[in-house]
Amino acid sequence: MLTRDVVSANINALEEGYAYVFFDNNLRTHKKAIDKYVNKGIVTEAASLDEMAETLGMDADILKTTIAQYNAVRKGESEDTLKTTIAQYNAVRKGESEDTLGRETGLEMEMVETPFFAIKVSPGIHHTMGGVHINTNAEVINTEGNSITGLWAAGEVTGGVHGANRLGGNAVADIVIFGRVAGSNAGTYAMENCGKGHGETVVKQQEEKKTEISEEAAAQFQDGTYTAAYTGNNGGVVVTAVVENGFITQITTENEETPMLFKPVQDTLIPEIIYTQSTDVDTISGSTMSSKAVINAMNDIMEQAKQ
Ligand SMILES: Cc1cc2nc3c(=O)[nH]c(=O)nc-3n(C[C@H](O)[C@H](O)[C@H](O)COP(=O)(O)OP(=O)(O)OC[C@H]3O[C@@H](n4cnc5c(N)ncnc54)[C@H](O)[C@@H]3O)c2cc1C
Repeated sequence: MLTRDVVSANINALEEGYAYVFFDNNLRTHKKAIDKYVNKGIVTEAASLDEMAETLGMDADILKTTIAQYNAVRKGESEDTLKTTIAQYNAVRKGESEDTLGRETGLEMEMVETPFFAIKVSPGIHHTMGGVHINTNAEVINTEGNSITGLWAAGEVTGGVHGANRLGGNAVADIVIFGRVAGSNAGTYAMENCGKGHGETVVKQQEEKKTEISEEAAAQFQDGTYTAAYTGNNGGVVVTAVVENGFITQITTENEETPMLFKPVQDTLIPEIIYTQSTDVDTISGSTMSSKAVINAMNDIMEQAKQ
């Protein structure tokens, strides 16, 4: 058997644009997989080559010559002149004849046993070659050969795994294995970045938000720097707030007891307190204890700073 692209190109080059997979009863009874095609009704069965030729609208003499040649070449009894014959197949299979088509596999059985079978075949697209370059971590690689932060890929969107021609049957292994690697790495990345995607973008957006104070907020605190501490999920959190011109302008924390859980508190909850100038804000889902530690500490601080 030649590679899929070569077989497809040869079939496409035919005027008809299709070919026949041809086999005899010996193969039919040895290959359980053929049942599927029989059940789909796409297999033509014939008791003889004459009957097959008539059913498929072929010239019976040519078909018989083809099969005879296939078998003769296979046995080394005849030179193959048609080159695409089943006779050649059989001779090549036995090593008795050189295959002008270069076949080295798919030669297990001689083709002599009636009834004969034929399946009409034509090439169809069922895999897209090429795509983004990934490494063994399923990270997408840029044109300089470096991985792109926060981008993983697997399956047909990737290229290179199969080389220039597809290795049949491997796509499913490809998507399952690299899909899992990509998903697992993306999940870890998302957890480390608080489930918010690309770290740099998020930090930038939140830094911008930190400086904002709602236009509806009133100046209500005495200027100064205030500190309070409260217990979070995993120890005490020290919160320091700066008040300028009556507004809380900065909140910093020390001893962020559980860093991964504390990050969304820093990124979202603290800017929200500054924006509203109040602790009437939602706790962060999944970071409740850290949220409460900051909210309680800020309640203390606001009490201290009341004008
Ligand atoms: C007829 C046929 C037979 C095959 N037989 C085999 C075989 O025997 N063995 C084997 O290993 N491989 C086989 N393959 C190939 C294999 O099935 C595919 O290579 C594999 O399923 C590709 O998986 P994938 O996840 O990369 O892409 P897909 O399975 O194509 O998944 C991509 C998904 O993304 C969705 N999508 C597309 N655009 C968007 C969008 N903008 N937003 C959201 N979703 C989107 C699509 O709806 C789809 O669900 C066969 C393929 C075909 C067609």
